[in-house]
Amino acid sequence: MRLILFGPPGAGKGTQAQRLADCYNAIQLSTGDMLRAAAAAGTEVGLRAKAVMEAGNLVSDDIVVDIISDRIDHDDCKNGFILDGFPRTLAQAEALERMLAEKSLHLDAVIEMQVDDGLLIGRITGRYTCTTCGAGYHDKNLQPKVAGVCDKCGGTDFCRRADDNAETVMSRLKAYHDQTAPLLPFYQKRGCLLTVDGMAEIDEVTQQMKALLGAG
Ligand code: AMP
Repeated sequence: MRLILFGPPGAGKGTQAQRLADCYNAIQLSTGDMLRAAAAAGTEVGLRAKAVMEAGNLVSDDIVVDIISDRIDHDDCKNGFILDGFPRTLAQAEALERMLAEKSLHLDAVIEMQVDDGLLIGRITGRYTCTTCGAGYHDKNLQPKVAGVCDKCGGTDFCRRADDNAETVMSRLKAYHDQTAPLLPFYQKRGCLLTVDGMAEIDEVTQQMKALLGAG
């Protein structure tokens, strides 16, 4: 299964990508995660990307296209991948199309997660993750069963993303509307665009996606 999960920041792409990756034995490929890892590792690309990410702007197309092009050649992507946060510009979408054609791979679908802007700000500013296993939580919507202890691994250290603050969120939303949303007609024309209600409960969104993909 090769999919693009499409939607604004805070739509829940990461959460759903993990679930679909488990379900279809595919790999979640999040350009945001890869760039944060590069920044944490202090690589040249990572350090250049860090300031751009913290301002809520988009990292240059060349950087993310190269990252994805290298990554999908790895063996663990042979069974499929769920792209989460890529492509984000028309140039990226065109580069992806070319790269898949060169590798004789086809895209099964692009799933758009529709969420109103008003909901996104609260979703993003309230979220945090377990430092040990990366499980995601939210101050209001999804708290650990035991306060301060990760449900999945028992870890007690949690962290928030540097760009998950109210000010940066506004820039990220603007980048989405200006540069990323125009990809919707691009994929609509190719006949592969599916849509789910990203405002439904997390399990319900997963069910909607599986039903659309024929594994409900
Ligand atoms: P995300 O984790 O998907 O919310 O991405 C966090 C940040 O990483 C974004 O706000 C961008 O600065 C950068 N980023 C992630 N993916 C891309 C991409 N495909 N193109 C450009 N910038 C990206």
